[in-house]
Amino acid sequence: MTYGATQELLRKYDRPGPRYTSYPTAPVWKSGFTPEEYQQAIDRSNRVLAKPLSLYFHIPFCEMLCYFCGCSTIISRDKGKAADYIDVLGAEIALLGKRFPKSRKVVQLHFGGGTPSSLTPAQNRVLFSHINRWFDVDYQEGEISIEIDPRHASDDYLETVRELGVNRISMGVQDFDPVVQKAVNRIQPVELTEKVYRKVRELGFHSINIDLIYGLPFQTVKGFEKTLDEIIRMSPDRLAIFNYAHVPWLKKHMVLIRETDLPRPEVKFELMELIGEKLTKAGYVYIGMDHFAKPEDELTRAQANRTLYRNFQGYTTKAQADLVGIGVTSISMVGDVYAQNEKNLPDYQTKVLTGQIPTHRGYRLSKDDQIRRSVITRIMCDLEVNRVHVLDPFGEEFDHYFAPELQELEGFAQDGLLEMKKDRIVLTPLGRIFMRNIAMVFDVYLRTAPKGPLFSRTL
Ligand code: SF4
Repeated sequence: MTYGATQELLRKYDRPGPRYTSYPTAPVWKSGFTPEEYQQAIDRSNRVLAKPLSLYFHIPFCEMLCYFCGCSTIISRDKGKAADYIDVLGAEIALLGKRFPKSRKVVQLHFGGGTPSSLTPAQNRVLFSHINRWFDVDYQEGEISIEIDPRHASDDYLETVRELGVNRISMGVQDFDPVVQKAVNRIQPVELTEKVYRKVRELGFHSINIDLIYGLPFQTVKGFEKTLDEIIRMSPDRLAIFNYAHVPWLKKHMVLIRETDLPRPEVKFELMELIGEKLTKAGYVYIGMDHFAKPEDELTRAQANRTLYRNFQGYTTKAQADLVGIGVTSISMVGDVYAQNEKNLPDYQTKVLTGQIPTHRGYRLSKDDQIRRSVITRIMCDLEVNRVHVLDPFGEEFDHYFAPELQELEGFAQDGLLEMKKDRIVLTPLGRIFMRNIAMVFDVYLRTAPKGPLFSRTL
């Protein structure tokens, strides 16, 4: 996959922009949003929609800090802290379990972090017993997935979660180059990763995803090619190859990565070309926003069927489910509302243990927000937008509603990023690299956003 970008285009489009795991993006949400408003959204969705549920659990603990980390983590080796945390999760599960009828089947469970694999097998058993008490999880057909850190995933741990019903594993790798690993404080040899990978396969998990990152300090095209070769040899079902977001103004520990050690935009672009070329050659299909999957994978099939969706965990095939976030900082997307839990662990614990829903901020979408969200979602998931039908559910007409945006898109078409067809707007291979820039045209809040580096760069 070659993209044919000039240096001029790279300079023009490499600017700060959201990743659109939600629209409106988190900076737009309101801190005055109350637990009662979230409760009302739950009631509305119970009454009107009766959709299935997707539950996300945030396990924030990590033993060591990776300097590139953009997640919400608590660095600790104290297993007692995790045990206390599971008790609080149990209390929050009960709070929510009382609010959602059991008839709303859970079709997706996802454990993210932090490092979910830092929980002991016994702690996992307790957590699953809380979930099974309050929710009806479809272990047969559902997606039950855990993010693991191969440095902290014993055979005993993997056997336990498999037995509890987990059927998908996502493994953090990032880069095998020892120089890069040292610079980001994450030493994880190929041999160790492969040993865990083999064990996961042996236990019969249905699908394995591997996370890599490009744009890390000291990364070179040659070095990253070696990492890709090792990964292709292992043959995971999916790959998420993220663009490192250097945002030390948001994540203070990122100052431990020197800006001068980061690859220049031209090198990052070469890395992107390399990733596209190698993975396509190895038989993977490009899904969008740094994601690849095998042709027979559900993500690939969902993209072909136009049923792919995007949420806080990235791409998902469970578009129809309401997402319920459980745990510190977790985000829910229920009906027309986003609600985020308290970000600070003591505040989160106090609220839950005194019987309160721990919502700290959130947002209720207007009709215009929902229209724009649907267009941005189609850009990110389908790599095209159907001008004739995309706004049918809202009773609006695309070309009329988005007349100014269509004018702006002409410039993107002239630069070769998209094709303006009569019935569709289609991203070209070059446009896929800059899909965030294209989505930004439809983001009304960027026009009024305070000037400042709120987002990472698009390249
Ligand atoms: S293990 Fe994952 S969540 Fe924890 S610090 Fe490293 S990147 Fe962040």
